[in-house]
Amino acid sequence: MLDKVVIANRGEIALRILRACKAMGIKTVAVHSTVDRNLKHVALADESVCIGPAPPNESYLNIPGIIAAAEVTDAVAVHPGYGFLAENADFAERIEESGFIFIGPRAETIRLMGDKVAAIKAMREAGVPCVPGSNGPLGEDMAESARIAKEIGYPVIIKASGGGGGRGMRVVHTEMALLNAINATRSEAGAAFGNSTVYMEKFLENPRHIEIQVIADQHGNAVHLGERDCSMQRRHQKVVEEAPAPGITPEVREKIGSVCVEACRRIGYRGAGTFEFLYDDGEFYFIEMNTRIQVEHPVTECITGFDLVREQLLVAAGEKLSISQDQVEIRGHAIECRINAEDPDNFMPSPGLVDTVHMPGGPGIRVDTHVYDNYRIPPNYDSMIGKLIAHGATREQAISRMRVALTEAVLTGVKTNIPLHLRIMGDGGFKAGGFNIHYLEKRLKERRE
Ligand code: ADP
Repeated sequence: MLDKVVIANRGEIALRILRACKAMGIKTVAVHSTVDRNLKHVALADESVCIGPAPPNESYLNIPGIIAAAEVTDAVAVHPGYGFLAENADFAERIEESGFIFIGPRAETIRLMGDKVAAIKAMREAGVPCVPGSNGPLGEDMAESARIAKEIGYPVIIKASGGGGGRGMRVVHTEMALLNAINATRSEAGAAFGNSTVYMEKFLENPRHIEIQVIADQHGNAVHLGERDCSMQRRHQKVVEEAPAPGITPEVREKIGSVCVEACRRIGYRGAGTFEFLYDDGEFYFIEMNTRIQVEHPVTECITGFDLVREQLLVAAGEKLSISQDQVEIRGHAIECRINAEDPDNFMPSPGLVDTVHMPGGPGIRVDTHVYDNYRIPPNYDSMIGKLIAHGATREQAISRMRVALTEAVLTGVKTNIPLHLRIMGDGGFKAGGFNIHYLEKRLKERRE
């Protein structure tokens, strides 16, 4: 087993990784910025190293600093968490070149999946259903682009191959607007991502976001752990996630899940990963693969009973997965609410001192947070301060447990989006399930009017 792991992240995910390491008897090193000395996992880690000042560029994105911390502490592996350097192929490569284990896929896999044109090509070849589109980069020939758009049918979406975080995309409704959209996306992509390659897809008007969790070891074993529905989004950011996805039958799950498992085998995937799909009219369309542990992994853990971070650590140590496909059984329903320190009405971040924290409990309730009494939330990072997860025998039970948990939760001193989550849990459309990715924005707009 791994002897000592550097946790190259902060906040709730750093604590989550620390807990998995401790349960497995693995020593931990917390690396943190100057404003993060008081993070809970820093206090609980065996060792800690300050790697720089508050701005992420100088600390959590500081590759030489993280490698130096691994060296001075004699660690053997680095867990990147999510965000920051988790999907940076150069980081993974430099970790391994320095003689450490990167807890994630091989650098070349991360690089492949970070280039969306290449990723879609690889997935198509592996039999994964993709959105009808240009099947490659758009060239300079406008007539050819217009021909492709006409064949796919408007509306189409122009996307940057190197894009991420919901940026670098343009929806086009008519041939008249096509040329401008391609040129604008191209120049934006060049400036923002250093890669001006763009491609075209059919724009699906009212899809759901459904994703498949996979994990693979280095011995050719790969399994899927079912799907999650992450359609409750605001500005392409997930707000509430759940598993399983309402309306997905065991047969449909098995079919798309085994396609993903097969794709993992084909590309020699290693570690935890997620295939993200748009789901429209009963069909799955691959949009991208996330090559890391995701924020919403706990809902999958609740309904399957497996510990995904533990499996990541096992795989990184070269061991076999402790999960086989026939052991994966879906039990009940789980919902996650992302708790952000922000104004629940205008979404402005609300960092600062948290005076008092009382977190809920009871049957089926899981709380993943690093926040404690008198903790000061720094303004430098994401406003997510924790996650509330409710598990029940049925979706209805998970929702009612979540409602109780949200009313029990007390966090004073900062604003949180708990009131928003309470409104969502009481919303008729949410309770019915199966809403599309525009639902939340639409409801928020109706409320403002
Ligand atoms: P990013 O890496 O920036 O998150 P994605 O390819 O995952 O980019 O797309 C982000 C979001 O943009 C999707 O969740 C969806 O809401 C929207 N989107 C992307 N492609 C399409 C499409 N072909 N049709 C409709 N919406 C799309």
